[in-house]
Amino acid sequence: MEQTLSNKAELIELDKKHFLHPTSSIQAQQKTGAPLVFTEGNGIYLKDMEGDMYIDGMSSLWNVNIGHGRKELAEVAAEQMNKLAFSSTFSGFSHEPAIRLAKKLADLAPGNLNVSFFTSGGSEANDSAIKLVRHYWKVKGFPERKKVITRKRGYHGVSMGSTSATGIPEFHAMTTSLAPDFLYAPTPYIVEGEFTEEDLMKAAQEVRKMIESEGPETIAAFMAEPIQGAGGIIVPPEKYFEEIRNICDEYGVLFIADEVITGFGRTGKMFGLEHWDVVPDVMTIAKGISSGYVPLGAVMINDEIHRELIKYSKGTLFHGFTYSGHPVGCAVALKNIELIEEERLIENAAEMGQELEKGLKYLEEKHWSVGRVRNVGLLGAFELLADRDKNTRFDATQGVAGKVVQECLKRNLIVRSVTYEGTDIIAIAPPLSITKEEIKDIISI
Ligand code: PLP
Repeated sequence: MEQTLSNKAELIELDKKHFLHPTSSIQAQQKTGAPLVFTEGNGIYLKDMEGDMYIDGMSSLWNVNIGHGRKELAEVAAEQMNKLAFSSTFSGFSHEPAIRLAKKLADLAPGNLNVSFFTSGGSEANDSAIKLVRHYWKVKGFPERKKVITRKRGYHGVSMGSTSATGIPEFHAMTTSLAPDFLYAPTPYIVEGEFTEEDLMKAAQEVRKMIESEGPETIAAFMAEPIQGAGGIIVPPEKYFEEIRNICDEYGVLFIADEVITGFGRTGKMFGLEHWDVVPDVMTIAKGISSGYVPLGAVMINDEIHRELIKYSKGTLFHGFTYSGHPVGCAVALKNIELIEEERLIENAAEMGQELEKGLKYLEEKHWSVGRVRNVGLLGAFELLADRDKNTRFDATQGVAGKVVQECLKRNLIVRSVTYEGTDIIAIAPPLSITKEEIKDIISI
């Protein structure tokens, strides 16, 4: 143990000196060092250097859908590396893992979303989606269709295009966004007080108003997460996406669904929008596609867009990442999807989602400050409210959600605080392999 601990102290010093962490406080890192240094993962558990076990109640970054420590995925990665670690997919070159994965995704995706462009993650997928839809409009003779409508507090990533699509101002404050080509429509969510489904549905009509006031001929696409994740775990009202689909169709605007969190079973269905029987024109995926074992993402386009690109996109498509369709990534994703299907993990997510719902309702009954509980499958949240009956918030400066996260961590549970304009929200999104007992453990903590 002593050996491990002195090793830990050394690692923390090296971490401070040499590792600039993503989405972390640079100053806090220097002050306190890395709070946890993980060494192993198994199922819903992560083990740190001191040998303590933590429940990964967030599937890390809502991505380890299959759970930690699956040897089958490690074996497939090794096998693929031994056979063909890498070869390019530029200039039309190809390889079997990418072709097979593209076919599998076409089988799984709703409607006629049958064609994939591969990336290394969600931000690249969203950037690629934005560039591809603009290219689509341009080659069809509508170069002025460039603007993208996204939503307030929607999260789409951190590359320049996806940061611009993100409707969380803190992400723009670091540098800039590419606005005015990005417009942020309201999200169907009301921060305080009473409201009805009808009130929430007004958010869809705001999208219509935005298209009309900007001029439909300038709008390339509308982009949204089926359930807004980092921006508050916002579950839309029942008819919202149907209405959005109708509005997009009415004005010829393409609908891009960002299924980066909601894809691959997270909500108890393969893709989130399936809950409302709505099919987008373009879909972006990442995270659960490989359960985080290797970096991978994709943009899926429908047959119509593909047909038009075949017809009008002349010469080279000047867009591609070195790792677009990485053979190891594709091989691991195929195995990951196979295991998710074989082990019926999506059905388990739906079933365990009901257990999570019961647990969240229990918390709501038991604690005066817990309210607005919600979940779809294993994507869940509760809010911390100063007065639950009046639906009022704590003063944002109190950092109540952050304190709850820290208290959970002391009890070996990792959850995450998210916020919608100062609202204190605790997100829970455990691996899809979770059991009833493990859900109970999370709720009791
Ligand atoms: N889209 C959504 C909905 C996300 O939640 C995320 C990441 O959390 C992204 C896109 C960006 O994905 P990545 O971090 O893989 O670039």
